[in-house]
Amino acid sequence: VSSDALLTVNGLEAWYGESHILHGVSLDIREGEVVTLLGRNGAGKTTTLRAIMGLVGRRAGSIRFQGRETISDRSDRIARSGIAYCPEERGIFASLNVTENLLLPPVVQPGGLDIPTIYQLFPNLKERANSQGTKLSGGEQQMLAIARILRTGAKLLLLDEPSEGLAPVIVQQIGRTIRELKARGFTVLLVEQNFRFAQTVADRHYVMEHGRVVDMVANAELAASMGRLHEYLGV
Ligand code: ATP
Repeated sequence: VSSDALLTVNGLEAWYGESHILHGVSLDIREGEVVTLLGRNGAGKTTTLRAIMGLVGRRAGSIRFQGRETISDRSDRIARSGIAYCPEERGIFASLNVTENLLLPPVVQPGGLDIPTIYQLFPNLKERANSQGTKLSGGEQQMLAIARILRTGAKLLLLDEPSEGLAPVIVQQIGRTIRELKARGFTVLLVEQNFRFAQTVADRHYVMEHGRVVDMVANAELAASMGRLHEYLGV
């Protein structure tokens, strides 16, 4: 684990009620990196994001963000420290329009993007500024879910399967967006099932199985590592 890591997770355990889901997850992310969590259904990827955010019943181990231990923090304190979570179900408010949805999450840190900059990054959303959440396509909802957390000033973005259920052309747009966020200095940890999409956006990949990280591969070595990853991912 490098000392310049933005996030360092060490021996993370997590429970939902009596169910022990994570069994010692360790990973680290340097500032400005895009890192994916790969793995089959039920491997514990979503639970890892939720545990980093303090949204599981109980957790143990160590999660240091910007050098500070957060394992005992409540989720609101974690959010205020500059970590934002974009769940798979996206959480767009149906009765609010796009701009109102963008304004909803509280600003927690300086340095967040303003609305004009967000609309510059997401021209589709600008066109739909006055549309109700219910009128948006799946792709627009996913864009909005990401756009919304950029205002908050969060430095680390946790994205749960942003490509899920979207048409290939929209998945490409989401990929461009994530690369643009990296260029702007954001750090991203994303859960992905879509291996090919992960390959177009990430610097490194962690592979999870049965609530543990079992492998790590640099994106440049991904193609050469396919044989090894095959058994974990079933690709
Ligand atoms: P998927 O892509 O299917 O979401 P995943 O790798 O993200 O896979 P998790 O969602 O983290 O996996 O689930 C890991 C395990 O935790 C699974 O066995 C799941 O059934 C269990 N689990 C998830 N959420 C809960 C919950 N709220 N209560 C109890 N068990 C849960």
